[in-house]
Formats: sequence, C-alpha cells, structure tokens
Amino acid sequence: MSDIFSNLQIELDQLYSKGLYRTLRTIESAQGPEVRINGRNVLLFSSNNYLGLANHPEVIRTSVEATQKYGVSSGASRLISGNMTLHEELEQRIAQFKGTEAAIVFSSGYMTNLGVIPALVGAKDLIVADKLNHASLIDGCRLSGATFRVYPHKNLKRLKELLEKRNQYKRALIVTDSVFSMDGDIAPIPELLKLAEKYDAWLMMDEAHATGILGKTGRGSLEHFNLRPSEHLIQMGTFSKALGSFGGFIAGSKVLIEYLKNTARTFFYSTSLPPGVLAASIKAIEIVDKEPERLKNLWGNVAHFKNGMKKVGARRAVPLPDSETPIIPILTGENERTLKLAEKLFEEGIFVPAVRPPTVAKGKCRLRFTVMATHTEEQIERCLKILRNIM
Ligand code: PMP
Repeated sequence: MSDIFSNLQIELDQLYSKGLYRTLRTIESAQGPEVRINGRNVLLFSSNNYLGLANHPEVIRTSVEATQKYGVSSGASRLISGNMTLHEELEQRIAQFKGTEAAIVFSSGYMTNLGVIPALVGAKDLIVADKLNHASLIDGCRLSGATFRVYPHKNLKRLKELLEKRNQYKRALIVTDSVFSMDGDIAPIPELLKLAEKYDAWLMMDEAHATGILGKTGRGSLEHFNLRPSEHLIQMGTFSKALGSFGGFIAGSKVLIEYLKNTARTFFYSTSLPPGVLAASIKAIEIVDKEPERLKNLWGNVAHFKNGMKKVGARRAVPLPDSETPIIPILTGENERTLKLAEKLFEEGIFVPAVRPPTVAKGKCRLRFTVMATHTEEQIERCLKILRNIM
C-alpha cells in the first residue's frame, strides 16, 4: 500500500480503537415505524420522519405523477435552466406556511446553511452562535470569514456580553437551532429576537426539527411562542424531516430572498431539486394542515415515551437531557458503552444509533431516540420494556 493509503488505514484503525468508527446499517424496506434490516423487522426509533409523511400514499402519488410529467431531474441549477414551476410553487407554499413575504428553496438543509450564512456576513461582520448548534450552521459560520463567537448553550447573559462589541462590526448575526438536534430542547427565541432587535442584528433560527412540529398547526417556533415575523428574523428550515421529503429553505422578507437568490453560492452552483421531490414537499405541507391528527398523535406519543423514559432514567440513574420535543436522548457517557447498548438494543429489535463525537462532546455520548406520529402504543411500550431490561 502506498503511504497515503496506509496513513488512511492507520487513522481508521485509530477511530476503531477509540470506539469512534462508523458503520452503516442498510434498510431494506420503506421508512416506517418498523423497518427491515438484514432480513429482520426492527422498530425504528431514530428517524426524523416525525409525521410519517415520507410514505404517505398521497405524497408518494403526487411525487410519482410529477416525475412522470416533468422527468427525474431539473437538469441544471436554478439560474441556468433548472427553474421549474414546481420550484416557484414550493417557495410560495412554504412562505405562506411560515407567514413570510417570500421564500427560497435549496437542495438540502445543509446546503442552505452553507450558502446563506456566508452570503449574509463576511470579514467585517460578527457572528454569535449557540455552542450546541448543528454542524451545518457551524460550517456555514466558519466558511463566512466573519468573526465567529460562541456562547454557552442558551446563555443569554454571555450572548449579551458578546453583542456589546457589536459596534466594531458592520453586520451582526445571531445563529441558533430552534430545536436542538441532539438534546431536543428549544431555544429561547423571544429573548433572542429581542436581543437581535436591540443590537440591530439578524437572528437566524434553524427550524429543521421545528417545522411541522412546533406550534398548534406545526408552523414552527413563531407559532409556538406566539411571535410575529420580524425583519430581524431569518427562518431556515428543511423539508427532510417532519415534511418527509428533501431540501432546505429560507423564509423571510422579499428583499432578503432576492438578495439570497443573487448571492448564495450553494443556490448558484448546485443542480436544483428534482420535480418528484418538489411535488412531495408541496403535498406534505398541504397534509400537515389537512390531517392535524398526525401532529396530535406525535405529541401523544412523545408524552407516552417520555413518561416511560423518565421511569427508566430514575430507576437506572441514567441522565435524561431536558427534551421538550420528539427528540428524546438518554445520556450514556463513553463511546464503548454507548456502542454496546446500541448493539444490544438492535439485537432486541430496536434500531437507535450510538451518537458519539464529533456529533456530541466527548463523554456526552447518547442514544438519541426520536418518536414518530406513526408509532403505535404497543410499539412504544415494547421499546420501553426492552430499554428497562437492558439499561
Ligand atoms: N439543521 C439541523 C438542525 C439538522 O438537524 C439537519 C439535519 N440533520 C440539517 C440542518 C441539515 O438538513 P438536511 O438533512 O436537509 O441537509
């Protein structure tokens, strides 16, 4: 083996010995509460398909029809020749859903964050970001070249101190997940927005795990906190989680959206979303409103699962972070222990992966359970019983 390849192998071996090696599990069925892996059915407690829309018959049918009508690919980026009626329709629908003047759609949530942050801020500007933000936000912040300061998780006092230096910069951007993807807690959006307004900054909130979930009708954090859209607020979100489809978006003022269409590099230089995916997202938004019982079931299942987890946590002295959403982790500590528990759960028929660094901090490994509207009570009880037995 040449040197460069043997070095890669050495690094892989090191990852393995530290319990940080990643392997993929292959799902041989559709994404439901139960999936087939290695020819065996297991209960899925790690999907972001919160409302079960990824395999909703109407969503599938609409997607297939759009593929038949428009083909499988858009053929180019939006600004070349890949701007189709469905892109514009989805942008209108998501803007309506989010209560903003306009919206722009990107090819994934990751690409949204990677393109939007560097479009908004650069070398003369300031970013202040929550310590537990998603990797895509962190990467967008790093790529921007702006001064990048991090405040401890949800620590408004420290955030305020950092904003006191705001005058040294041209623009300022506060960046936060609105639902934190590994802990399941909710950011203090009203307070963050007040600070953004006070210090003439933008607040960009990543609604990946809030869209379709928070608020009475699933509109997200603004509905949850009973807030109005503000010119200081930039709402980012994804179609890939509760909406069961694929892609990312920004919802905001007309001028913000026009600006991003003219400046965001991931919008410019990547082939736009395919028709089948766009049609699925449009239908999924419609179904969130048409079938409100999905959201009700989701929160019912969350309460049921969380109650059971609290009992497991108390009896076995396992810490449970303060989750407020369908993301319900159990802190398991070190890499090896977490891997072993995930493996044991899998043997018992529960699929939940071991979340380890760099996704979470060292020593903060966890089993990150996610609950879906489509889990039955029996499935939740089965999962809790197995957990009680193995923890
Ligand atoms: N933001 C957050 C908070 C996420 O959890 C994710 C997905 N894990 C993303 C952005 C990226 O979205 P996508 O999967 O659509 O690229």
